[in-house]
Amino acid sequence: MKIGLIDVDGHNFPNVPLMKISAHYKKRGHLVEFYEPLSGIYEPYDTVFMSKVFSFTEDYRFPIYAKKIIKGGTSYDLKNKLPPEIETEYPDYSLYNVEKIGYGFLTRGCPRGCEFCAVQDKEGTCSTKVADLSQFWRGQREIKLLDPNLLACGDKIDLLHQLIDSKAYVDFTQGLDVQLMSEELSELIMKIKIKRIHFAWDFEKNSEIIKSKLKRFKEFSGLDYTKLNVYVLVNFNTDFEFDLERVYTLRDMGYNPYIMIYDKEHAPQNIRRLQRWVNNRIIFRTVERFEDYKPNLPDKIKRQEKTKNTASDGVFV
Ligand code: SF4
Repeated sequence: MKIGLIDVDGHNFPNVPLMKISAHYKKRGHLVEFYEPLSGIYEPYDTVFMSKVFSFTEDYRFPIYAKKIIKGGTSYDLKNKLPPEIETEYPDYSLYNVEKIGYGFLTRGCPRGCEFCAVQDKEGTCSTKVADLSQFWRGQREIKLLDPNLLACGDKIDLLHQLIDSKAYVDFTQGLDVQLMSEELSELIMKIKIKRIHFAWDFEKNSEIIKSKLKRFKEFSGLDYTKLNVYVLVNFNTDFEFDLERVYTLRDMGYNPYIMIYDKEHAPQNIRRLQRWVNNRIIFRTVERFEDYKPNLPDKIKRQEKTKNTASDGVFV
C-alpha cells in the first residue's frame, strides 16, 4: 500500500501518532511518506492519515488524492483513537529526522477538569499509566514527556523511577501539577536529569497553595529559572491586573513565566503585548516592567530572540 501522512500543524514538533502509524505500516512493508499532492496525482495514495492538534492552525487546503482519508488529533476529533496495535508501536523518529530525543506519553488523562482544556473529553478524568518508558525511548540523550498530569497517576512512583534510571535529560513539556507536589515527589524528581520542568498557574482559585508549593519546590530543587517554567493562562477568566501579578510574582520567585493566550484570535492588544514581552526571554529579563516594554525593539534583540525561541514551547496535545 501507499500511505500518505499529513501533519497539518507543520513539521516543527514531531507528531507522535503519525510516527507510530509510520512505524506500523513500514514494518509491514508498505510505502509510507509525507503526503505529496504531485505523487498523489501520479498514483493515488491508498490511505492518507491527517493529524491536527491545534485549533488555531489552518486546515490542509490542497487536494488530497487518496482512496481513503483518516483524520485524527484534538482539533479534528476527541474520540478518534489509534488502535492498540498502532498505539503501542515504537515511533518512527526518522520521519522527522529525530535521533537524540524520545517523545511520548507515560500517562493519559487528568482529574482537574479545567474548562478550557480538551484532556478530560479526550482522555478522561483519571490519570492512568499507558506505557513504560521503553515504548518510546531507546537510549536517546533526551526525553520529551507529553503527559497531561503525570503526578496524578497512581503509578507515578514507578514512572519517576523509570525516568531516573534512564539517565536521560527529561523535559516535562506539558506541566507537572505543582499542587500535588510533596517532599517525596520532589526528591524523586530531583534524581532525574532535568532539562526543563513546566508548571502552570492558570486561575485565581488555589493561588495561595500554588505559590507556596512553587516556593517550596524552588527552594528544595535549587534549579534556576532557565529550567523552571510556569504556564500562565490569560484571556480566559482572569483580569489583566492578576495576569501581571502572576508574571511579576513568578519572576520574583525565580521562575520563568510563559504566557498562553486563550482564544488568541480575539485577544485584546494588551494581552498580545504581554505575551510578546514575557515570552521573549531576553527582553523580559532586560525590561523589568510591562509599561516600559516598547514593542519596537532594536533589530539585534529581535534576531537574538528569533534564534532562541524553540518550537517545543507551549505544545498542547
Ligand atoms: S489544563 Fe492541565 S490540569 Fe487542567 S485539565 Fe488540562 S491537563 Fe489537567
